[in-house]
Amino acid sequence: MTTTNVLDRPTLVLNRSWQPVHVTTVARSLILLWNDAARVVDPEDYQALTWDDWAKREPAEGVPCIRSARLKLPVPEVIALANYDRLPSTAITFSRRNVGKRDHYTCQYCGDQPGVETITIDHVIPRSQGGTSSWTNCVAACEPCNARKADRTPEQAGMKLRHRPVRPEWKPFYAAQGGRIESWARFVKHEPVPALALA
Ligand SMILES: [Zn+2]
Repeated sequence: MTTTNVLDRPTLVLNRSWQPVHVTTVARSLILLWNDAARVVDPEDYQALTWDDWAKREPAEGVPCIRSARLKLPVPEVIALANYDRLPSTAITFSRRNVGKRDHYTCQYCGDQPGVETITIDHVIPRSQGGTSSWTNCVAACEPCNARKADRTPEQAGMKLRHRPVRPEWKPFYAAQGGRIESWARFVKHEPVPALALA
C-alpha cells in the first residue's frame, strides 16, 4: 500500500462522548491529532492517545502504517475529538446523486439497474401536479420508465413503486464508501448496509 492510499483511508471520528459523528481521511485525522484537537482511540484497549504516545507505539502485525525515514506510524482507525460534544447531523443533503445512492441506482418501478450514468430521477407526484423535489417524492428510475410515466402519478400511469421513498439517515458506515474497518464495529451500534454509501 502506498503512502497516498494510506492517507486516503477512512478514519472514524467520535465526539467527546465517543459517539460516531463523522468519517474523515487518515490525512485529516493526523492533522487533528497533531493540533491536539483529537486523540487516537486504540480499538484494542480503548486508550485515548496523544500524537506523541501514538507515535511511540510499535505497530501491530498487519496494521497499515505511514512510513518515512525516521517514522513508522500506524494509521489511526478511530479518533475522538477533544472538544466536540454535539451529535452528528442526521441530515443528508438532498441531491440527485444521493437519491441514486439511496435507491442503489435501481429503477424503483421495474428494478432495472441501467448504471450510475444513465439512471434518472423521477418525481413520484409530478411537479406539474404540485410534487416537490424532496427525499419523499423523488426516486431513481430508468429512462424508459421515466418516459412512460411522464407527467403522471404512478396511479395515473398504472405503475407501481417498489418502495416508498424515505429520507435516509446518516450512518458512519455509509460514509466510508466501502472502506469498512472491523474495529469501527466496537463504536458503531448498527450493522451497516454495505451497498449504500451516502456522503
Ligand atoms: Zn424502469
